Amino acid sequence: MTHSHNLMNDLAFLDDKRAPMTEQLLAWCGINSGSTNLDGLKRMHAALSDAFGGLGAEVETIPSRPLPVVTREGEIVEQPIGDMLRLVKRPQAPVRVLLTGHMDTVFPVDHPFQSETFLDSDTLNAPGAADMKGGLLVMLYALLTIEQSPLADQIGYEILINADEEIGSQGSAHMLTEAASRAHFACVYEPALADGTLAGARKGSGNFAAIIKGKSAHAGREHHLGRNALVAAVDFISGIDRLSGQREGLTVNVARVDGGGPNNVVPDLAVVRFNVRLEQPDDSDWLLSEANKLIADIDSREGFSAKLEGGFTRPPKPMTPQLDAFFRALRAAGDELGIGVDWVPTGGCCDGNNIAAAGIPVIDTLGVRGAHIHSAQEFAKLDSLVERAKLSALLLLKIAAGELPNPGLFEKTEKN
Ligand SMILES: [Zn+2]
Repeated sequence: MTHSHNLMNDLAFLDDKRAPMTEQLLAWCGINSGSTNLDGLKRMHAALSDAFGGLGAEVETIPSRPLPVVTREGEIVEQPIGDMLRLVKRPQAPVRVLLTGHMDTVFPVDHPFQSETFLDSDTLNAPGAADMKGGLLVMLYALLTIEQSPLADQIGYEILINADEEIGSQGSAHMLTEAASRAHFACVYEPALADGTLAGARKGSGNFAAIIKGKSAHAGREHHLGRNALVAAVDFISGIDRLSGQREGLTVNVARVDGGGPNNVVPDLAVVRFNVRLEQPDDSDWLLSEANKLIADIDSREGFSAKLEGGFTRPPKPMTPQLDAFFRALRAAGDELGIGVDWVPTGGCCDGNNIAAAGIPVIDTLGVRGAHIHSAQEFAKLDSLVERAKLSALLLLKIAAGELPNPGLFEKTEKN
């Protein structure tokens, strides 16, 4: 058995790919694909379809579900979401992996950060360079490498690239869950830290809006007839804020309040938006019941109504024995390439949360090395394009060759 030798030969395909990957990355970063820019997302979808078509399978366009949004006026409207991209290759192969990424960025079409700057020969500052257009290239080139390998028929994959990750993936989460049910394990191409450290356990997240309605009245003539929604909102805000820290690792961030109007009118509406992060899956029920008690208290007051919209969209992703085994497999592949593989827990969340909740192990920071994402200082390390493509390709080839365990089959019997 001299698989190792053959596998390293397979990776030679990537040796001269830094220049074409960089060129492709610049082109992709030049397309604004903010989550709400549907035209830009269409152009991005087309560019990705061209590139991923090189894998030799049909590129499918999958519509996303619209996103319910609470407006400043307390109304619920449906926001359209860009289409997903899907590609399936060898679905009957003995090893089946789900690879996911997102084509959207946090930068809307009117954001000042729209163009690229080379900070040095290895550092590209550009919108989406790290998060995660660089990661999509890492995924693509790892798979192109596998397609060149004689081991390709041992491994099948499904690619899902959504257009709403940065706004919570509510329009695509059902597809992530469905695709996870067909795969042994998953690879997600969010960026690693600049030094290459990956994200291990992740907190879960929920976004909520409390809609509080009172009754308007003239502030001078009939103040006593008014029911002040902003004042009621203060009670809700101080109550919900106090929940932070009552469960280990649970935080509540009151982010925004809409409502109110002229000085001489008692305000009849307040919309309070807040985000919750948590470590333990069970804490979501506790938080919901506490929040609903606060809502019920206001709703029961004469002349007031209150309701809670939103929910938990990213379940916590705990470190499990299965995930630990997956990381150790990745570390073994990294060792052969001289790439150190380490991981740390994070409060951030991503599609890896949803995939983990669907029951398969997932490493979700297999993209480029980079930093300062979600800001105009975002950068990607260009040397990591080839480096990380080699890491993913070797991981998958070694699993296909049986040199590393299939993480989805590790202690499967003990999983439930
Ligand atoms: Zn991302």
